[in-house]
Amino acid sequence: MSKKLIVGNWKMNGSLAANAALVGDLLGGIGQPECDVAVCPPAIYLAQLRGLLDGSPIELGVQNVSMHDHGAYTGDVSAEMLKDYGVRYAIVGHSERRQHQAESDVHVALKAKRALAAGITPIVCVGETLREHEAGMTEFIVKRQLSAVIHLNGHCVSEIVVAYEPVWAIGTGQTATPEQAQSVHAVLRAQIRAATEHAERVRILYGGSMNASNAAELLSQPDIDGGLIGGASLKAADFLKIIMAAKA
Ligand code: PEP
Repeated sequence: MSKKLIVGNWKMNGSLAANAALVGDLLGGIGQPECDVAVCPPAIYLAQLRGLLDGSPIELGVQNVSMHDHGAYTGDVSAEMLKDYGVRYAIVGHSERRQHQAESDVHVALKAKRALAAGITPIVCVGETLREHEAGMTEFIVKRQLSAVIHLNGHCVSEIVVAYEPVWAIGTGQTATPEQAQSVHAVLRAQIRAATEHAERVRILYGGSMNASNAAELLSQPDIDGGLIGGASLKAADFLKIIMAAKA
């Protein structure tokens, strides 16, 4: 299994000054991490972050990518444009976009395909809502969401990262227990195994109120290969503690 991967999703937060301060604190404490690390700022700050992170162990990610390659798609940013800025990872299908921008499973699969074609690793988010969780539909929902990506991308699925993010745990302070998360990750791993012989190389991240206190236990589960971190990635000390907890 490859190194664990810790990704910060800054969501719609930051400013030129705040980004510089946060990255300064991160680079001051990160040393040589044992895991891979990336941050995903709002796209408008990519040029700034590219400069700030140059030569550092922190890679650049984005929170979204267009499902189109170029043309009359006002407001969209293509995977090729992101690649121009040194982007390594693209989050696709975050539950906030599925909810607020009506992104469907098919949209998410297309975005993953565009990212892969440009040499960007898509971080495909899957996860059930509270209502679905309470109705015992977790497995059905995450498998449906991932199968759209597998269906469109075929054997290339071995090149993606998956993030299991139970919607009820995002930004709520309510984390899935390590056992709950592990059991869903095992389901996802089995689904990937059925699609590619390289399933073990696909990193499956957990996201949903992961923080400095619960990271080590979550990351010790056999199928949890890293974390997608929202709130705690905006506090350098907390994000650094999560990075330190992510040993191979
Ligand atoms: C996220 O938005 O991907 C996330 C996991 O957020 P938080 O860590 O704040 O729950």
